[in-house]
Amino acid sequence: MKVITQKVLIYALVILLFPCALFSQNTDESNPRVVEPVRRNNSPSDAIILFNSSSLDKFLSVKDSSQAPWKVNGRHFTVVPGTGNVQTKQHFGDMQLHIEFKIPRDAKNKEGQKSGNSGIYIMGKYEIQVLNSYDNETYTDGQAGAVYKQYPPMVNASLKPGVWQEYDIVFEAPEYDEDENLVKPPFITVFHNGVLIQNHVEVKGPTTAHNKELPEFAEKGPLLLQDHNNKVSFRNIWIREL
Ligand code: MG
Repeated sequence: MKVITQKVLIYALVILLFPCALFSQNTDESNPRVVEPVRRNNSPSDAIILFNSSSLDKFLSVKDSSQAPWKVNGRHFTVVPGTGNVQTKQHFGDMQLHIEFKIPRDAKNKEGQKSGNSGIYIMGKYEIQVLNSYDNETYTDGQAGAVYKQYPPMVNASLKPGVWQEYDIVFEAPEYDEDENLVKPPFITVFHNGVLIQNHVEVKGPTTAHNKELPEFAEKGPLLLQDHNNKVSFRNIWIREL
């Protein structure tokens, strides 16, 4: 009787597992394509590299469209206060963006919005705040990782001034119909130093200090970096268009 029970169990298992084996052989053409993944200081094989060393030739001065006037120093570059914002020549819509930044050490001696302020403006319009938010109080929707004046970050994942930090951003661009009505608002997801801080939030409109020269109903725009009078540095910037 015991042997029969064992046999029945084995048959039952085979019958149950057979469909699983069938479905696990996902060999059709819908297989996700292979992409070389990120390694430290590297970028995925299908990314557009906006800066990884030596030259700022992918960026322009917003003021006069001349070569971006910020200071390149080996593998990073730094805001030159007073020279104004810079933006990419290329325009982007839906994207995955990786960007690394370093707040200057002297930010420790400054307070609130004066401490290591810069910003990453997606499409030249929607600011993800860059600020020293390590032991530095300010209004919550103005701290590092905020969608400026719209959404505070879910948590504060900031590191000390002088330490490299990173944002990984997923952006869904706005969509307009033929009559320039908004049919889909933009959405932003942000990871700060690997921690989720904005989870697919609906962007309510451009940040006040955005680049107003850009067309209002565009579905693509430049990546703009803000000169807010602080020597914030950037490196390893890449975008995957989605
Ligand atoms: Mg800012």
